Amino acid sequence: MSTTRNDALRARFEAVMMPTYGTPPIALERGEGCHVFDVDGNRYLDLIAGIAVSALGHNHPALVRAVAQQASRIAHTSNLFLHEPEVELAERLTALTGGQARVFLASSGTEATEAALKLVKRAVGAGRTYFVSTVNSFHGRSSGALALTGKDAIREPFGPFGMDVRFAPYGDVAALREAVDDSCAAVFVEPTQGEAGVVTPPDSYLREVRAVCDATGAAFVLDEIQSGIGRTGHWFAYQAADATPDVLTLAKGLGGGLPIGACLGMGRYATAFAKGDHGSTFGGNPVAAAAALAVLDTIESQGLLPHVTEVGTALADGIAAVDHPLLAGSRGAGLWRALALTSECAADVQTVAARHGFLVNAVTPDTIRLAPPLTITREQVGEFTLALPKILDLAAEDTPKGPMP
Ligand SMILES: *Cc1c(COP(=O)(O)O)cnc(C)c1O
Repeated sequence: MSTTRNDALRARFEAVMMPTYGTPPIALERGEGCHVFDVDGNRYLDLIAGIAVSALGHNHPALVRAVAQQASRIAHTSNLFLHEPEVELAERLTALTGGQARVFLASSGTEATEAALKLVKRAVGAGRTYFVSTVNSFHGRSSGALALTGKDAIREPFGPFGMDVRFAPYGDVAALREAVDDSCAAVFVEPTQGEAGVVTPPDSYLREVRAVCDATGAAFVLDEIQSGIGRTGHWFAYQAADATPDVLTLAKGLGGGLPIGACLGMGRYATAFAKGDHGSTFGGNPVAAAAALAVLDTIESQGLLPHVTEVGTALADGIAAVDHPLLAGSRGAGLWRALALTSECAADVQTVAARHGFLVNAVTPDTIRLAPPLTITREQVGEFTLALPKILDLAAEDTPKGPMP
């Protein structure tokens, strides 16, 4: 068998990259709409969108135009100078959250979490000495965000962090009430735990978090880095839950593939930072901000929020119609869904799916995560649900091992 270009690139990757990600199975070269192509020319329907990032799919003309135009005007200013794209983006985000927020722009999710952490410390004062997060949560990999991350295996080797963080079981209101008192600075929570496997809480959970924070004076920090910007069929997941946070973090889908993050403070959290309190050389970079504006424009002009709800329902229905011993069911909202498997064969399902032209993500040993571009069509989703029984059959049968494809 001749060596594929995928194999050759994987070998080069292994020789020079730190092994933090293992060696990914497929080397992607380009994308078009909801499809991506690897370096050997194989085509895949992209059902993960770079982990809920490529909201408009690939090579979307609005995003390409915005990025090219901005790069040709001015690609970087630093924060010694301001520029219109960052101002307009902050105006738009503020309007989407009700008009009262103030925005700090960063370049990634973990930086949005760090900004939220410092903002809260400024706002609540020294008497509030600890933070509450949730078991299995994910808030980022930099030290402050990692301290708040409830996955022991990725956090514990890098502590101590010099922060008192207490972890309550996710979705458990009684445990939250128990954990939060009036010396708690903030509660950090996701509206649905993405990295844990698209784990949804009880319907009333965010309202209960709001109530606990109101009762104790702790800040309610909502991490919508994965759920925000249309993923659930709403601009923000909290809008469906009818509970407004004090601090909101965004990243992933916001830039449609360009690196950008945002931390929004509401109420007294809008004005808690003073000059010199925080900063980032690249945060709110003109090109990234222009990309984010193109994402927001396109979601609006193409009616993508109702589209996400409609196609998301079709996806959920299509999965529900599959009767297979490996499939326990699915959960999620909009175009953000997990297939719950009856055994720890998610890696095999991911491999077989790729062989059949579908990119999905084995987010846990027994969970497949789907987070396709928001532009995916009903027909494309139907192609996947049609192929799903066969993929599950093959995953159950030959549990293929080794590199892809
Ligand atoms: C991805 C993610 C982060 C971290 O974002 P990075 O851009 O990888 O730093 C934080 N919180 C949640 C909920 C995420 O999904």
